[in-house]
Amino acid sequence: MTLPSLTPPTYDDVAAAAHRLKGMAHHTPVLRSTTADDLLGAQLFFKCENLQRTGAFKFRGAFNTLAQFTDEQRERGVLAFSAGNHAQAIALSARMLDMPAVIVMPADAPASKMAATRAYGAQVVTYDRYTEDREAISRHLALERGMTLVPPFDHPHVIAGQGTAAKELFEEVPDLDYLFVCVGGGGLLAGSLLAAQALAPQCRVVGVEPETGNDAQQSLRAGHIVRIPTPHTIADGAQTQALGELTFPIIRDHAEDIISVSDEQLMQSLRFFAERMKIVVEPTGALAYAGAQAFSGADNGGKLLHGERVGVLISGGNVDLARYARFLAD
Ligand SMILES: *Cc1c(COP(=O)(O)O)cnc(C)c1O
Repeated sequence: MTLPSLTPPTYDDVAAAAHRLKGMAHHTPVLRSTTADDLLGAQLFFKCENLQRTGAFKFRGAFNTLAQFTDEQRERGVLAFSAGNHAQAIALSARMLDMPAVIVMPADAPASKMAATRAYGAQVVTYDRYTEDREAISRHLALERGMTLVPPFDHPHVIAGQGTAAKELFEEVPDLDYLFVCVGGGGLLAGSLLAAQALAPQCRVVGVEPETGNDAQQSLRAGHIVRIPTPHTIADGAQTQALGELTFPIIRDHAEDIISVSDEQLMQSLRFFAERMKIVVEPTGALAYAGAQAFSGADNGGKLLHGERVGVLISGGNVDLARYARFLAD
């Protein structure tokens, strides 16, 4: 069973999602940093989705989608393929809504992620990522068990849910001049753009990708979706190969620009978050701040963000501790 509606989401869907998420998702805090303000000569506002339930914004889109299942879909349950934050978000949302969940993960996924997904009550089905096709396996399972497959970004309810993070930020911090948002498949960016159109039309929204995986930047320049091989980057949440059929048009029509940053810049941002702001951020979660810094040109005396009010969406904080320790020590 697949989800029926593929109509592009609008701001009304974001507002409806916010209503559904009330009391279910955390209203995450907006943090400030004098050090960052001084460095960029701007006022920065960090929206901390690393402090969201399951450690990333993905809970918003997952819960918003599952909450709209029909009774029959609810009874059969949900299926997702993911080695990352989408898995945990679906697993917890399914538990909260009392429905079965199956998550298809590569057999060599980090043990901590599998354990976390199981702890939220989902059944984990593994596959060999080198010899088996996960989409075929997922489709087969979904068909066999009548479960509904929920994709990580290219679905209207997922996009609308992700947009609620930026909605909260715009409502709490008026008159933002810029908002920086990371880009994988573009669900978070597309949702943020819908929120910006309605709540902060003056705000320029900039997407940020890893340098080695700049497919969205290429797509924006080309005017159509560009697909790339799976990129090598420490930003594992942004190792997507292409934007989605639904996310691309929204990004093409409304994003100010898409920029990219190196893994080295991401590691510097991780250290900044740990040392100065006392928060744990995963590499992908640091894209937006690294992007704001690169955009400003502050490192070379640049002043592009001087005097501006700048939102930075920190997307997640799930990182294996041994790996995190290596990033901090390097
Ligand atoms: C999924 C994810 C992203 C990318 O989000 P998209 O909606 O696919 O663009 C970024 N950061 C984190 C922490 C994620 O889990």
